[in-house]
Amino acid sequence: MLQSILSNVAIILLLHLTMTVIMSFKKKFSPSLINVLVILLISASVISMFYLPIRFNGYWVDMRFIPLIFVAYIQGWKPTIPSLLMTSLWRFLMGGDGMIPGILFGMVGPTLFSLAFHSRFNLKGRYLEKIGIVIACWLICDLPIIFLIPNGWEFFKDIAPVRSTSFVITSIILYIFIAQNRKLHSLYTELEKLAGEDPLTKLFNKRKFFEVVDTKLGELDSKHYIAMLDIDHFKKFNDTYGHLFGDKVLIDIANILKKYENDSVKVGRYGGEEFIIYIGNSSDEKATKIVEKIHQEIQETAFTVEQASIHITVSIGLAELELDDPSSLVHAISQADKNLYKAKNNGRNCLVCP
Ligand code: GH3
Ligand code: MG
Ligand code: MG
Repeated sequence: MLQSILSNVAIILLLHLTMTVIMSFKKKFSPSLINVLVILLISASVISMFYLPIRFNGYWVDMRFIPLIFVAYIQGWKPTIPSLLMTSLWRFLMGGDGMIPGILFGMVGPTLFSLAFHSRFNLKGRYLEKIGIVIACWLICDLPIIFLIPNGWEFFKDIAPVRSTSFVITSIILYIFIAQNRKLHSLYTELEKLAGEDPLTKLFNKRKFFEVVDTKLGELDSKHYIAMLDIDHFKKFNDTYGHLFGDKVLIDIANILKKYENDSVKVGRYGGEEFIIYIGNSSDEKATKIVEKIHQEIQETAFTVEQASIHITVSIGLAELELDDPSSLVHAISQADKNLYKAKNNGRNCLVCP
């Protein structure tokens, strides 16, 4: 019997490992494909448990409901209902005496019960409630045995300690693995975000901006542009109002720039009070129009500093990104920088286009 329990536990842990791999592709695959993979995985693990039963006094029992109650509790009805239907159909086709109670009490009952608690799912806390759900699922599954087989009460009493303990222990082990994995995943996501974000303005930092634009260059087959934007006389502003207000203006300007971001416009903080803008899928006319609008909006914005309204101007240099050049991005930045320098020499508060 111990061997059969361990093989059921092994299936459940293998399910967890495979699920972890699938979830690591969450960003690359579409949500519906991920959902289909989860359904197939849950169903495969439940079905394989049908063939590895725990034999007890001539009766066969297994841990089939654990994958189903976990997916119901953690992920909700979307992957749960199809998995439940698929596995119930499989059990139906297998036939045998215990087919109907096996489906009703061993699968449908516990799964729907656990699904009812999905909205209360939270990774941390409510541990007693969680153990209570597992115990309730075990009772839904095993209590009917008392009425369904001869000497049911004796059989239930005999198997109850092993059944309840193995369900609770397996669930706790699985839950610890899932919780640990989710924690690692959220730390990784946070780290990835921080590594690509400018801490002050929350725009892309230079490294992430280069990475994002690199993916865009392969994607589109039209003209691409780089604009460099630099605040005019910002040193004087800092000297007059202090660096904290300077920081606030940088955040306000970043927020204006963020409004222009879309699939083909990306913005980053290049450094200091310089911002970089990528405009893809565009033409000379369209790109010029976008930077003109940005220039005008910043010029017209009243920045609040020490209860006063201050107007700030920027200079912008625009350049086309030549795709046939392998160092096209670096070249375009240097060209946009030259145009920015020209804008500064032209008296600032203006833009120079290619
Ligand atoms: P120009 O019109 O020629 O661009 O003049 P400028 O004063 O803006 O140019 P300069 O490059 O001499 O000065 C840039 C200033 O930007 C210097 C620095 O104090 C300020 N600066 C750079 N990064 C930050 C920052 O993160 N916060 C604040 N408050 N100021 C910054
Ligand atoms: Mg500067
Ligand atoms: Mg400046």
